[in-house]
Amino acid sequence: MNFVLPSHLSRQKLVDQGVSLVDHQIHTYYSDGADDPAACVRAAQRRKLTEIAFTDHVWRSSEWVESYAEEIEQQRRTNPDLRILTGVEAKAVDHDGHVDIASEAVSLVDYVMGVVHRYQPDVSGDLAKLGPVKAAEMETAITCRLLENPIVSVIGHPARTYYKFFYPEHTRDPFPAELIREMATKAKACGKPLEVNAKVPHLERFLQILLEEDAMFTIGSDAHRADEVGDIDFSMFSDVLNKVDHDKSCEVRK
Ligand SMILES: [Zn+2]
Repeated sequence: MNFVLPSHLSRQKLVDQGVSLVDHQIHTYYSDGADDPAACVRAAQRRKLTEIAFTDHVWRSSEWVESYAEEIEQQRRTNPDLRILTGVEAKAVDHDGHVDIASEAVSLVDYVMGVVHRYQPDVSGDLAKLGPVKAAEMETAITCRLLENPIVSVIGHPARTYYKFFYPEHTRDPFPAELIREMATKAKACGKPLEVNAKVPHLERFLQILLEEDAMFTIGSDAHRADEVGDIDFSMFSDVLNKVDHDKSCEVRK
């Protein structure tokens, strides 16, 4: 299969080119977003973004994928200055890396972003019993299996399900650093990026670990309205890069 992929960043690319103004997670009225693709494209242009990806939530039963792809294609034709990608966000349906999408839908889009939304099937509905530590381990394990799935090109909002269900009511601990490293190492081995998603807590720490591990990443706002497109603190990327470089040079001097 020949996927068209979002352009990703890495530590070296950040050093060489700086951060690119992109948004790789946008939802429209095809799933749970409020606006149409055209409104999101206009918002991206207002924010001077260079590339966006639509990533509406897809299910195996979704029947709108063809018209979604057509509507985005039309935007692509009328806005040649903006790189526009047709992605979909497909959730893991088990612990083996399978995702909730029909093969016909895969052939209609540029790429599939795999995500963890639940820890199923064995523990659905009993998250409190699971606890944050086990949940983080499970989210990492499912993410690593998603990375192995050839139809999954990017992992969307890694670690977010942990934060959604456990943070801060059940724990104030951020997602364990060693598990982020495990995901980053696996992503690197599979040659796939993880998403740096603006809605995930402790984002700077997450990015720092990706840069230390030299993993590839995409950048997403998780916009559900046109005015949220590109709502990302892009200056964070150079700040964290400087911090990683500074820590490194201190280590060398030690
Ligand atoms: Zn999601």
